[in-house]
Amino acid sequence: MSEFWSEIVSELTPYVPGEQPRDQNIIKLNTNENPYGPSPAALAAIRAESQDTLRLYPDPQALTLKQALAKAHNLEPDRVFVGNGSDEVLAHIFNGLLKHPKPILFPDISYSFYPVYCKLYGVEFKPVALNEDFEIDLDEYDRDNGGIIFPNPNAPTGLSVTRAALKNLLERNRRSVVVVDEAYSAFADDSFVDLINDYPNLLIVQTLSKSHALAGLRVGFAFASPRLIEALERIKNSFNSYPIDRLALAGASAAVEDEAYFRTIRDRVIETRTRTIKNLKDLDFDVLPSQTNFVFVTHGRMAASNIAQALRQRSIIVRHFDHPRTANYLRITIGTDQEIDALIGALREILEP
Ligand code: PMP
Repeated sequence: MSEFWSEIVSELTPYVPGEQPRDQNIIKLNTNENPYGPSPAALAAIRAESQDTLRLYPDPQALTLKQALAKAHNLEPDRVFVGNGSDEVLAHIFNGLLKHPKPILFPDISYSFYPVYCKLYGVEFKPVALNEDFEIDLDEYDRDNGGIIFPNPNAPTGLSVTRAALKNLLERNRRSVVVVDEAYSAFADDSFVDLINDYPNLLIVQTLSKSHALAGLRVGFAFASPRLIEALERIKNSFNSYPIDRLALAGASAAVEDEAYFRTIRDRVIETRTRTIKNLKDLDFDVLPSQTNFVFVTHGRMAASNIAQALRQRSIIVRHFDHPRTANYLRITIGTDQEIDALIGALREILEP
């Protein structure tokens, strides 16, 4: 507490991102990054942009990126909002679309940044418990609310709701905004972007961080009806005119246009996921049926925290959360085949000494 701080500062509980170790030799399976590099076309575009024009401000509208995203999703650019990572997009959503007298609803086990934004922007919320199978039961959200937000697939569980369940909720919940955070939908069977044409209160958030191997570039976006997008633009233009810098604008646009590369690395991750799940089950792990680039697992004989510690001693890091219901689970990012072989080898040593 400092006499110079605004009142809110000491009350905040900031989000703590997963560890980014300096040691390059560590096998890093803790923050759901894509193990393959970005599209070569994106890297070339970033290099080409790295020149004298960096003295000039970037396009405050980020129009080329909005156009690339709109084209990829068969939408008009006025249905697209872009920001500095989907975390920034989410922050503007909490501030501009979810702050109402009634509490908003989100799952009790979910992306832990949501309650942090609630505190920052003074948004009341009510957590809704996942069902026994760790699924989001959207029937539980059919009640008075100031808004609804959930990741789909959910993190850290990796499970998805069905299109029918979402449509059912949207039919009944027309008076508040429903936000679907699709950070991981590239690895799932379905994405719900097309539904924004039918539901003016639906907002879909996505990111290039995982799907396009560009976590370091910080580019996220939202798709929704023009009226919701306008709210986000108003917030953004009252906060930072240029969240997408020139390098990000060039690289992100090229990455979105390079669909063939995106499909190649996505398919590779999904193939490795299938193999990882099989290998983990062979080692007696319970593995939730993942729709993401990570798996959420628990082991009958050894505590998750002990497994995480033993892996760390072997230079492999995975994510362990403290939430009481998931304290015995680990979230493991799908790495390259080689990294997963190292993980499985280490787990064999730890579990079957
Ligand atoms: N939503 C979810 C569910 C996430 O797991 C993450 C990654 N931590 C994000 C949003 C934010 O991703 P980024 O800011 O890199 O776009």
